[in-house]
This record gives sequence, C-alpha cells and structure tokens, in this order.
Amino acid sequence: MSSDATVPRMSFLDAIIENVRTHAKKGHRPVVVFDLDSTLFSTQERNFAILREFASVADAPHALVSIVGRLCVGDMGWNIMDDLRVRGLSDDGLLRRLRSFWRERFFTNEYLRHDKPIPGAVEFVADVHVAGAIVFYLTGRDEPGMGAGTRESLRTHAFPFEGERVVLELKPRFEDDDLSFKRSAIDRIRQLGEVVAACENEPANANLFCDAFPKADVLFLETVHSPNPPPLCTKVARLGDFRR
Ligand SMILES: [Mg+2]
Repeated sequence: MSSDATVPRMSFLDAIIENVRTHAKKGHRPVVVFDLDSTLFSTQERNFAILREFASVADAPHALVSIVGRLCVGDMGWNIMDDLRVRGLSDDGLLRRLRSFWRERFFTNEYLRHDKPIPGAVEFVADVHVAGAIVFYLTGRDEPGMGAGTRESLRTHAFPFEGERVVLELKPRFEDDDLSFKRSAIDRIRQLGEVVAACENEPANANLFCDAFPKADVLFLETVHSPNPPPLCTKVARLGDFRR
C-alpha cells in the first residue's frame, strides 16, 4: 500500500491555512485578500434573475422567451447578452435594451440578494480567519451602489465579517477602474501585515497580486472573467472552487 493511501495529503488550501497559522504564531499578522464577484460569490444567479425579469414582461418577443425558457443558472457566462447571442438571438435592438436593463440592476444593492457563495468559500474564509488571518475583502463593487447590499450578503452567508481582523474595501465611485483601484490598495494591504494568499477571478488582478506579493500564494478562480485577459502569471494556482 502506498503512503498516499494511509497518510492524508494536505490540500493546497489546507497548506494556506497552515501557513496562516504559522505566520500568526510568529506575530507576523498574516493577511489573505479575497475578491468577491466570481471569486467568493457566483454572479450566475444575479444574471439569471435579471434575464428572467427582462423576459417576463407581457410583450417580450417569442424568440427571447423561448431561449430563456431553455436556460438554467449554470448557463450564465460573463455576459448575458452573449449568452443569448450564441443561442441564436440576433435582434440588436433587443440586445441593446437588455444591456441597459441589466446595467440598471446588476450593480445595485437589491440584486446582490440573488448571489450564492462559490462552493467551499464560506468555510475556507472562516478557516483562514480562525487560523489568525486578517481577511481583506477587496472588490470592484462600488460603495454608493453596492456597499449596503455587500455587507448584508456577507452577513447572510456567514462569511467572517463582524469583529476583529476583517477589512472590506469597495470602489469609492462606480466609474473607477477596477484594476487601478486594486493597485491603489496594495500599499494599504502591505501596511496591515504579511500577505499569505490572494484570491481572484480576473487574470489582470491575479497578476497584480503576483507582482505585489511575491511570497504569497495567488489563487485564480476558474469561474468567469472579462474578455481579452492578459496571460496569467505562471506562479498563479488555478482553482475551480474552494472545496477541500
Ligand atoms: Mg471578481
């Protein structure tokens, strides 16, 4: 019998928790950075709810209703307009109206209640927090439009939020560029302690953390991300979700 069969191998995520514990014992103030959308939370349910709402109006075209009726949450990709386009919807005027309808809802407090945590995410964040990490939520969501809903969502799903060693930063303005905002947070994060790990679904952001925190484990969530990404830094680990 091989040793692998008798000695449980420590998973990559378990190793990060152990690393946090080691740093905490040495008084190094370990920090773990988490993005929210498509990293800790799936946005598929939010997108699906908006799409179904758009298709539920009395005069919705038959082609739209028919396609949406055959879709499920798991079919939602980066962009719901593309989700329809690839299934044969070609009415550009309708797709433009959907885009406006989607933009008016996706970036709002109210629709965040549809989000569901990525499998294993709540447990992993809780475990790194218990192990002694400062949990730093760094998100491209904007404070004016999504701050209250983000706090409510973190509480509702029992992510570490209240109490010590938790930081939440959202963009001050909707118009701010996500990558520039995250770059501007690097110094503030460094001042808190030693970054042990950072988790992201956007390749550009993952690469930023790779450069800024060379000793940290950077985890890339293979969920959805924006189009035309840069090549992912070779040191970044890929992960489907946070299940161990
Ligand atoms: Mg994200």
